[in-house]
Amino acid sequence: MAERLLVIGGDAAGMSAASQARRLRKPDDLVIDVLERGHDVSYSACGIPYYVSGTVASAADLVARTPAEFAERDIGVHVGHEAVEIDTAGGRVRVRTEDGERWEGFDRLVVATGAVPIRPELPGADAAGVHGVQVLADGIRLRRALEDGEPARAVVVGGGYIGLEMAEALVVRGLDVTLVDAAEQPMSTLDPDMGAIIADAIRDIGVTLRLGEKVEGFDTENGRVTAVRTESSVLPADLVVLGLGVKPNSGLAAAAGIATGPTGGIVTDRRMRTRTEGVWAAGDCVETRHLISGEPVAIALGTHANKQGRVAGITIGGGYATFPGVLGTAISKICSAEVARTGLNEREAEAAGFVTLSATVESTTRAGYHPDAKTMHTKLVVERRSGRLLGAQIVGEENAAKRIDALAIALWNGMTVEQMTALDLGYAPPFSPVWDPVLITARKAAELVESDMRTP
Ligand SMILES: Cc1cc2nc3c(=O)[nH]c(=O)nc-3n(C[C@H](O)[C@H](O)[C@H](O)COP(=O)(O)OP(=O)(O)OC[C@H]3O[C@@H](n4cnc5c(N)ncnc54)[C@H](O)[C@@H]3O)c2cc1C
Repeated sequence: MAERLLVIGGDAAGMSAASQARRLRKPDDLVIDVLERGHDVSYSACGIPYYVSGTVASAADLVARTPAEFAERDIGVHVGHEAVEIDTAGGRVRVRTEDGERWEGFDRLVVATGAVPIRPELPGADAAGVHGVQVLADGIRLRRALEDGEPARAVVVGGGYIGLEMAEALVVRGLDVTLVDAAEQPMSTLDPDMGAIIADAIRDIGVTLRLGEKVEGFDTENGRVTAVRTESSVLPADLVVLGLGVKPNSGLAAAAGIATGPTGGIVTDRRMRTRTEGVWAAGDCVETRHLISGEPVAIALGTHANKQGRVAGITIGGGYATFPGVLGTAISKICSAEVARTGLNEREAEAAGFVTLSATVESTTRAGYHPDAKTMHTKLVVERRSGRLLGAQIVGEENAAKRIDALAIALWNGMTVEQMTALDLGYAPPFSPVWDPVLITARKAAELVESDMRTP
């Protein structure tokens, strides 16, 4: 008799797991059903800012596969089905639909419930015009509000990468945009010196930055937001977008006794098996190991979710695959300003017990004489003595940030900055200076490591 795989959550991690399991096991051996509480599956949440801006014309363009397409591959996708309880001993999940509740049995279970956006418990946070952007339906609602309501002033709360991308979308839509963050810099995952550079770039784009200002509430009129109130200002707003970060959506699993870790994410091994027999987990709902610090981390990124879902699906399918951990490589942009990071910043490296040296270099994206050359800043965080790369950050323009991939590969392979100085990277004047910014910064860092050798 066929086993039944139940997947909770029908986006990146869940659908990757279902697809890989199906690839390896035929329907007469494994029946696969996916429970999705929303009305969309297998869509690119990462594309939401570009749908909101209008760069992507239709929400359908963000959908990789529909439930009907999954049905053709013998994967049952059930939208509007919310898992409300997991009974691990009984091998069943209580499911809520608009018709009521019922239990669905499983032999194997994948929990891929994603993340929950952090929403402030502040007066007016639920008012009309205050938007979160977590799922496709949020993006559709926001775009409708922009097109129907013709708002003029927007406030984005939170200066992380989602806040930045949403600010870009609103700038593209022609709104007057203010970005508020309680921290002293946007992109708090960067060191302050690099954060200051991206802050200047954001101001140059015409976005008003209010840094070090904590939001205290939202003024409303007839149930609709009219302003964002911070400790020191009242910022008029026809529309507010919240980008305050996310945390693992692990409550359903935790209530069932599935182990969670210090970050709140579900604990798995490298094959994405939880500590409960027959239960796997993948994506934003899990915690994983940071490959440089060795610490558990919950870093919500689609790149991790897809890979983890794939590993869970292959394992369930009887194959062998592992997810070793993450560097936290992330990249983003706001209009022409690009930003990227990988590994540990100075604060994180020190917290992990490293003593660090850092090198920052201002250089250009193309040969300096090329008319389209743009300024870029590259920073390397390096371990004292060993000279091993611990992390990197980039702020710049026009494809500057994508150089983070070369740095992530160096980091992944445990390279020292001395070894990096000899990397055989591509060069032609339209692509980089003859000494690529990665090489120049590695050389500067190697010199620092060498001169530091002479001190005790
Ligand atoms: C605006 C935005 C931009 C982003 N940009 C990037 C980017 O550029 N690069 C990048 O790497 N990452 C980006 N991300 C993050 C990326 O989208 C997520 O890391 C990824 O979607 C996580 O996949 P997941 O399957 O774990 O979770 P999700 O995509 O959140 O999917 C979880 C699914 O589970 C469903 N679900 C939850 N609970 C239940 C339940 N009890 N019953 C049934 N269904 C349930 C949810 O409805 C949801 O569909 C972005 C995210 C957002 C919101």
